[in-house]
Amino acid sequence: MASLLNENQPTDPISLLPYKKPTRALPCGHTFNHSSLASLLDNNNGDATLACPVCRKRSHVRDVNEYPRNYGMEQQMDFQQEKEDKIRKEKMDLVIKMKIESNEEKKKLLVKAYGENSSEVTDCIIELGNLYHDIAEYDKAMKCYKEALPRYEKSDDKIADVARTYCKVGAIYERQSEYDKSMEYFEKALPMQVKEFGTEEHVDVGKTYELMGWTCSQLRKDDQAMEYCMKSLKIRLKVLDEGHVDVAESYDIIGVVYAYKAEYDKALEYYNKALDIFINKLGKDHTDVAMSYNNIANVYDSQNKYDEALEYYNKGLDIDINKLGKDHTRVAQTYMNLGKLNEENLHNYKVALEYYQKAKPIYTKSHNGQYDAYFDERIQFCKG
Ligand SMILES: [Zn+2]
Repeated sequence: MASLLNENQPTDPISLLPYKKPTRALPCGHTFNHSSLASLLDNNNGDATLACPVCRKRSHVRDVNEYPRNYGMEQQMDFQQEKEDKIRKEKMDLVIKMKIESNEEKKKLLVKAYGENSSEVTDCIIELGNLYHDIAEYDKAMKCYKEALPRYEKSDDKIADVARTYCKVGAIYERQSEYDKSMEYFEKALPMQVKEFGTEEHVDVGKTYELMGWTCSQLRKDDQAMEYCMKSLKIRLKVLDEGHVDVAESYDIIGVVYAYKAEYDKALEYYNKALDIFINKLGKDHTDVAMSYNNIANVYDSQNKYDEALEYYNKGLDIDINKLGKDHTRVAQTYMNLGKLNEENLHNYKVALEYYQKAKPIYTKSHNGQYDAYFDERIQFCKG
């Protein structure tokens, strides 16, 4: 995709293309793309020294992999990428908002032309719901779905759309922690999807089993959760690449369920499978990687392996602070975990105190002071 901020983008002096990772820096400090420097070295006629194409300073030739990467510049590139992603998302949200406006107009016209209860109007309402869903306005999306579903359910030719909408409604309930309701919708959607596709081996069915597994895990129906998660995994391994992030999602939830069942070695096995894929597909600094580290730390914590737990909590924390910001609730959650571990298990009250004091203001803000009394008590205790 073309860069939105092209004019500001520094380019590799050899290829004149934008910098991309990994970069390689010559001793003079001038930095090139790995591939550019590699071809420069290939064309150096076996000389013992190489002239920098920018400043002509000569230095001893090394293997291309031995030139250091310019991590400062690579970090700049990451910032630039994030800035572009943000702009792209804002533009997309704007496009969707404009589509919503025109759909609201369209709906009025359709009501006039075909009547309130026509299938044209129903389709339009579902479309509106999907648009609201895309910009995370879940209450409005839900209102549309609830309005359209009873009409949809009456028409036989809309089975696929109804099933898809059930899944969306279920997923919204799941977000709101209304697990009995979400389960109800997933259970309605599943047989319709299987009938529609003529097989269970379809990505959508894999997704529905994952959602059902997660809902059951939150209801602490562990065995049922495991059954659904395993079905989801089996389908995904069949229809997707084994290194696909969706496969990792399945591994991850299976890890959660094993951890709930206190089968810690199994939990670690699955968490690590998920972690490998996340690192491979999303990069080592992705928030999903941090989430995996946190999950692994929790298991080590439960196994009383405190050194390992500390190591993994800190790995996750570094990424979360960097990517989500130092005041994010997940950062606070890790501070609290580190506080508890230091207080209860290591009896390191001074360190525990520091973590509680860092966690408290973030919790105060995100949970309206609900946890203040808890933190005050822990802080008093650790002060001795
Ligand atoms: Zn140079």
